[in-house]
Order: sequence, then structure tokens, then C-alpha cells
Amino acid sequence: MKALVLKEKNSLAILDMPLEEKTGLDDVKIKIHTVGICGSDVHYFEFGKIGNFVVNAPMVLGHEASGTIIEVGRNVRALKAGDRVCMEPGIPDLHSRATLEGLYNLDPAVRFWATPPIHGCLRETVVHPAMFTFKLPDNVSYAEGAMVEPLSVGLQAAKKAAVKPGDTALVCGCGTIGLVTALAARAAGCSKVIISDVIQPKLELAAEYGFIPVNIKTQKLAEVVAQETGGWGVDVIFEASGSAAAIANIFEPLCPGGRVVFIGMPVNPVPVDIVAAQAKEARMETIFRYAHIYPRAIALLGSGSIDVKPLITDRYKFADAIKAYEYAVKPRPQSVKVVIEME
Ligand code: ZN
Repeated sequence: MKALVLKEKNSLAILDMPLEEKTGLDDVKIKIHTVGICGSDVHYFEFGKIGNFVVNAPMVLGHEASGTIIEVGRNVRALKAGDRVCMEPGIPDLHSRATLEGLYNLDPAVRFWATPPIHGCLRETVVHPAMFTFKLPDNVSYAEGAMVEPLSVGLQAAKKAAVKPGDTALVCGCGTIGLVTALAARAAGCSKVIISDVIQPKLELAAEYGFIPVNIKTQKLAEVVAQETGGWGVDVIFEASGSAAAIANIFEPLCPGGRVVFIGMPVNPVPVDIVAAQAKEARMETIFRYAHIYPRAIALLGSGSIDVKPLITDRYKFADAIKAYEYAVKPRPQSVKVVIEME
């Protein structure tokens, strides 16, 4: 079948790959419809590796996907051919200790699409466990279905923050993950969400959602937060920029007893000011992807509580998938999510 293959860094090709698999008893076969381009895909394209994960052999890219079921295994009851679905890209060992502890995202044996050496889903069809495949409501499009993956990251962060009704929040970083985190924070009950970045068109999109944008090139973040919170600070900070400069002062806008969730992944280790955290008895949380958040993400899209449509800014056809990746390396400043449609 045709697939978008990263041969080595900076070298992509649409190739015929022998990826056909048998549909197992508990699996479904899905005809892929839409695949979002993630920062991690772009990073592998540009650098051929992320940390210890190195592309040593040609690898199919893509992990944010939706499609239509074309075949179901004999044991599958909840899904049928014709269902529109999205898929969770990480499959853990179902018998591992991490899975039994409810931490399957942390299972060392997890196989995650487009994380070497596992092929991704930018291809015609894929066989996937039914238990990691989720039906989309009729009012949720395939492109929105592909957004369930990044949205789940934001929802996992809101869950780890234990957002309470009426909390105030600051999100550092206004990329896809920052924006979906702001949406998740509001859906979780935040009364006010401030969001910071340096790219003005992205902040304007955030403002259209009703978030309070702060351009840290021209405004002082701590001052805006003080103004918006009566000098108290925000209850929750979501660090979604991965920037060392943002992390250096991360506790400054936080209220006493507040929470910080680290979402962004700095490329290199960065210093954290422990004393600044102690002075506020800050609770610190981290996230790694998500665990069983897809059903909630889909329900929030279906109910209209979260609208990700404005985040889907650029669409390409599969035949132009290489162009899509070249674009995603250097996108227009107003671009948020680039998606590739198989048909
Ligand atoms: Zn992703």
C-alpha cells in the first residue's frame, strides 16, 4: 500500500510498502481518512531523531488519525464496518504492571505510531486493536477526529492539574498544544484563561476563543496576570512552550498553593527554581501523552463544549504529503494544525 515514508532525515517519499496485516480477533481494519502533522513528526523529518528515538530504518510517519472501519475481527462487538473512528496511537502491553496500575501510557513496552521503529499511519489502511479505536459522533468531522490526539494531551494536563470550578489559568505557549490545553482548562471549569506567546497571529486566534492573550515581546506577563487576578496570581499554570526562558520564571505568576503542569518538552535539560516553587508550596505535575482520555475528548467535541475547527488551518491531499511536511517546517505564523487527507 502507499505510505508516506521518512527514509532518513530530510528525505521523504510516497512509497509502496508491504504493510498489509491480518485483522486479528480483537482488531479492526481502518481505511485512513485524515492524519494531522504533529510537532514530533516534523522533528523526525528535520533531525531524524527525538532524544534516544532515532530513525535508523525507513519509517512511515503520522500518529494523529481518523478513518472508516472496513473490517472487524470476530470478537469485536462495539464497532462495525462503516463506523467513522479515530485511533489512539499508543498500544501498551495489556498485561504489564503499568497497564494494571492504570498508567498504560508509561508502559515501557508501549508501541506508539511513528516513534522508531514503529511505523505510523500515513498510509492507506491500518489494523488496530478495537479497544484503542473510538467511534466519532455524526457531528464530528474526520479532521476533528484527527485532533482528538493533541486534544487528549490538553485534557490529560487539565486532569493532572485537578482544575476546580472557577479556577484561573495561565497557558504558556500558543501552538496546537497550548491552544488545546486552554480549551481543556476552560472545559474543566476555569473561569479565565490567559495565554502567552510571541507570535501575534496565534494570540489573535486565542483571543477569538475568549482567552486573554499576552504577547511577551511587548507585554509583561506577570503584570497582566496580577491585573487579571487582583494581584493573587493564577491557580494553575500549564507550561506548553518547552522554552527554558519560560520555565526559568514559571512560578512568578502562580498564586500561593497553586499548581504547575509541565507539558512542553525542552530539547535539553533546563534549570527549575525550586526555592521559588517552595515559597508558594507549588504543586508540580508532569504529563506524558494521556491514558484513556479519548472517550472524554470525543464527548467534549460531540457536545460542542470544545470546538477545535478553528485550529485546523491547513489541508493537503495525500499526493501532496511531502509538500505538507515542507510547509509544516516553516508554516505561516497563523498556522496551527496541518492535516493530510487520504482522499
Ligand atoms: Zn501528536
